Amino acid sequence: MAKNIQAIRGMNDYLPEETALWQRIEGTLKQVLGGYGYSEIRLPIVEQTPLFKRAIGEVTDVVEKEMYTFEDRNGESLTLRPEGTAGCVRAGIEHGLLYNQEQRLWYIGPMFRYERPQKGRYRQFHQLGAEVFGLQGPDIDAELILLSARWWKALGIAEHVNLELNSIGSLEARAQYRDALVAFLEQHQDKLDEDCKRRMYSNPLRVLDSKNAQVQTLLNDAPRLSEYLDEGSKEHFAGLCELLQQAGIPYTVNERLVRGLDYYNRTVFEWVTTSLGAQGTVCAGGRYDGLVEQLGGRATPAVGFAMGMERLVLLVQAVNPDFKAPATIDVYVISSGVGTQSAAMLLAEHVRNAAPQIKLMTNYGGGNFKKQITRADKWGARIALILGENEVAAQQVVVKDLRSGEQETLAQSEVAARLALMLG
Ligand code: ATP
Ligand code: MG
Repeated sequence: MAKNIQAIRGMNDYLPEETALWQRIEGTLKQVLGGYGYSEIRLPIVEQTPLFKRAIGEVTDVVEKEMYTFEDRNGESLTLRPEGTAGCVRAGIEHGLLYNQEQRLWYIGPMFRYERPQKGRYRQFHQLGAEVFGLQGPDIDAELILLSARWWKALGIAEHVNLELNSIGSLEARAQYRDALVAFLEQHQDKLDEDCKRRMYSNPLRVLDSKNAQVQTLLNDAPRLSEYLDEGSKEHFAGLCELLQQAGIPYTVNERLVRGLDYYNRTVFEWVTTSLGAQGTVCAGGRYDGLVEQLGGRATPAVGFAMGMERLVLLVQAVNPDFKAPATIDVYVISSGVGTQSAAMLLAEHVRNAAPQIKLMTNYGGGNFKKQITRADKWGARIALILGENEVAAQQVVVKDLRSGEQETLAQSEVAARLALMLG
């Protein structure tokens, strides 16, 4: 017998039990986004490889070793998107959405990175991202943070995420700091691990967020990014902190918070949790005023974030198990006897016409009443509609409350209104 073909490592199937929770979480997230006037943008999953190289930067983990790149049949190099910002900016430029305009956008969908799969880290994962173009003040940075804070409240996880904040300054300020940091690291090469040595020249700021304790101790004596910040960035950061204080959003300034992607400037932030083990960053973002121009558009200020949906779902499951998917159905329609099966199907259609909000499933494949009631329970139904030959003949139906066990017989014409009332 042929060997079964399995899914690709790190790329998951999401089964009905999980998708129901995902849908509820996504619904909550989208409702909040709507409440701030953000609009959805849908983008291709594949882009030309140079887009990511230019946007993310050649010397980042993502471009160096995580991209799924392949040749199209005509020899063009394409890449499965590892993140959403590059494509969003590409589309914004291509469709003239950015120049002299304000845009508040969001997207959701799969991203692809060749990483070592583990809890909270996959090769196909999902991000919900938000990107705002055309606004340069700290007020919009604050709005993105307020919006996400509202998500945590709505999902019941606010006590389990902390906001970390930093400013990485202008490109110029960062270049100066980079030189000072490299000079320092060169003097202490003996205390650096291989990863840090490699990053020291390619992407030295990433040394700051090394997980190595010895490196972190060494960094206590290193030059500090905050001492190199330009005036504009300092003011911007102070403005953001002030707004967050006014809005009552607690935060920690983490001077070693940098982003793995090259295009950020000024504000960077992360929402982190200690409830998920090593993969603790749920949502990460910041300002990227240089990217639109770098990709060929006119200079446009921009700020955004991306949230890892798998990590968010894991966190909700871990700390707020009461946030559950609703039952698949409200009502299960049961029938037994000659001519009752078609009557059950038609009654269910009648109820769906009259009360479209009610979720009904009709029993197919027969079975005695007891067996059908068991199926009703399995699907989480609160109510069973029961049709036997007598009910069909009298155009009636038995309405059974599966929790209390109470039941009553009603005319079929009254049942939709009765169900709507019971399910309130
Ligand atoms: P990390 O340091 O965890 O690798 P990153 O800096 O590569 O994160 P970003 O590129 O900022 O991550 O992506 C934003 C968010 O997307 C992350 O904070 C995380 O929640 C999620 N994310 C990133 N990579 C993965 C992955 N491989 N699997 C699941 N979620 C991911
Ligand atoms: Mg990563």
